[in-house]
Amino acid sequence: MSDKFDVIVVGAGPGGYVAAIRAAQLGLKTACVEKWVDDKGAAVLGGTCLNVGCIPSKALLESTHQFHNAQHADVHGIQTGEVSMDVKKMVARKDKIVGNLTMGVAGLFKANGVTLLQGMGKLLADKQVQVTAADGTATVYPAENVILASGSVPVNIPPAPLTEDLILDNEGALNISETPKRLGVIGAGVIGLEMGSVWARLGTEVTVLEAMDDFLAMADKDVAKEAAKIFKKQKLDVKLGALVTGTEVVDGKEVKVTYKDAKGEQEIVVDKLIVAVGRRPQTQGLLADDSGVKLDERGFIFVDGQCRTEAPGVYAIGDSVRGPMLAHKASEEGIMVADIIAGHHAQMNYDVIPSIIYTHPELAWVGKTEQELKAEGVAIKVGKFPFAASGRAMASNDTDGFVKMIADEKTDRILGVHMVGGIVSELIAQAAIAMEFGSTAEDLQLTVFAHPTVSEAVHEAALAVDGHAIHMANRKKRK
Ligand code: FAD
Ligand code: NAD
Repeated sequence: MSDKFDVIVVGAGPGGYVAAIRAAQLGLKTACVEKWVDDKGAAVLGGTCLNVGCIPSKALLESTHQFHNAQHADVHGIQTGEVSMDVKKMVARKDKIVGNLTMGVAGLFKANGVTLLQGMGKLLADKQVQVTAADGTATVYPAENVILASGSVPVNIPPAPLTEDLILDNEGALNISETPKRLGVIGAGVIGLEMGSVWARLGTEVTVLEAMDDFLAMADKDVAKEAAKIFKKQKLDVKLGALVTGTEVVDGKEVKVTYKDAKGEQEIVVDKLIVAVGRRPQTQGLLADDSGVKLDERGFIFVDGQCRTEAPGVYAIGDSVRGPMLAHKASEEGIMVADIIAGHHAQMNYDVIPSIIYTHPELAWVGKTEQELKAEGVAIKVGKFPFAASGRAMASNDTDGFVKMIADEKTDRILGVHMVGGIVSELIAQAAIAMEFGSTAEDLQLTVFAHPTVSEAVHEAALAVDGHAIHMANRKKRK
């Protein structure tokens, strides 16, 4: 039997590594187990998010956004001549950012005294964790508390089995090294729209096949409608109600995709196909039969509102448990659980988790949609302000979209904020802070926002909730 730890975290993604650092900060003797190794056998820290998710996708989105701006610089009077993209350099830049960040996590572990245990973690009975190294050596570590943070893996679908370099999941999609002429994407969710945007900006013909009839069903209808209009202009061809029935690699260089929609059997031929139809919890090999931890009917680790599993002293967080599969949700759960283990009172507010899609314009929201609130019978008032009326957005040549704020008709409390616009990934934090503090629309109306900023759209949307917006004509009468 080896060293006993106060906390063993299994998985070093944004859930696990944040939980481990917080636990160590709180004076708990902490270890983090990670199975992912690079081609030299060194541990890969940071999980999906840092290695094949949030960070690399945002690096590619930023590079291609800059490319698009350079191509359109003449609106500012800047003459650039022909602009071209060195895709290999763009991918290398992305890899460098990933490398820096994952090394940064190793540095943070060291600085905080977190012990890294390299290998596959398995929870045994009585809070013991077996770690099996790459050479097959297994060591069992006892712990006072265990935090499972094993994350998720992409869903595969039988009609589109992955191939080495033509039919790709999100990981392969981040390493395409030449601009494809034609790209197919299965799934118009977050990954489909973000990766579709990357390549559409470089001139690829992008076709996105979405099984559902509704576009962005999880978003407020105004956001989904505006986004559909804008993506159409950007030549992102989203086909709704399209059920993929098969794929065939032709001559080893292109993929024929067959799908069924309202008009019947259809076919497209593409140079690369990305499968982005969702992710599922990663629990294979994680739990011994007598670990005491149960899975729910969808395969997620079953937890209560504070991430406790059915086994006392064992918690689970992040993508492997219920709730949105988002890095910030995983990290906040990690902090909550570490605090609980250290004996502090901790609770996470699941009603205020921002969601963002990093296309351009970006889509961002927090709280409930107008449709959800109406279905719940809540009386609401809605204010909306378009970026087309914002001086700063005009100066930035970034006037698509709006801020929409929804407040309770009776209490004025803000219930949801939904945005489409240039940098709404940053603006949405203002709405999240306001909602976390239980703000009313009036609280934001009375707040001084600097001029000229795009943030003023948040102020104006709050004013518009009561028909008081200054820089547009209000539909509602001022009381
Ligand atoms: P993961 O990041 O999946 O980490 C789990 C870790 O546990 C992995 O390192 C894995 O190797 C390890 N592990 C699993 N089982 C074991 C075991 N038995 N023993 C040892 N180690 C184990 N979210 C956002 O919020 N914003 C974004 O912009 C965003 N973009 C994304 C883009 C893409 C392309 C993808 C795929 C995802 C994106 N996400 C984004 C989602 C985000 O990556 C996840 O929500 C987040 O990584 C979940 O964190 P986690 O710690 O729960 O799991
Ligand atoms: P998703 O759930 O966002 O979207 C999957 C889409 O595929 C859905 O619209 C679904 O209707 C569609 N679909 C499912 N089966 C299909 C089929 N057979 N044919 C056609 N369409 C089908 O999943 P994703 O885009 O794979 O992303 C996975 C997870 O990663 C998401 O939960 C998301 O939270 C996270 N993520 C977040 C960000 C971000 O925060 N910006 C970015 C990327 C990924």
